[in-house]
Amino acid sequence: MKVSVDVDKCCGAGQCVLAAPDVFDQRDDDGIVILLDAAPPADQHDNVRKAAAVCPAAAIEVHEAGLHGTDLHGTDLHEIGLHEIEVQG
Ligand code: SF4
Repeated sequence: MKVSVDVDKCCGAGQCVLAAPDVFDQRDDDGIVILLDAAPPADQHDNVRKAAAVCPAAAIEVHEAGLHGTDLHGTDLHEIGLHEIEVQG
């Protein structure tokens, strides 16, 4: 899974931080989202999906990893060499 955030869309509501505090944080001054982990481990995937779903600004994009149709749920992407990271802003 890859995660990216659009800071131009973010309105600082902080819903993502509540849903996935290991993956998202907020800037102290204006509350705009900070992406802590653009390739979160499998145990964070559900939280990240929740965060993207509750974000009122639709500022969180989640790219599910798929390797030739293989279900990677529970797979450590670092272990299999997927290091592609996409961060906006
Ligand atoms: S939930 Fe969305 S709008 Fe709110 S801080 Fe997170 S990314 Fe920004």
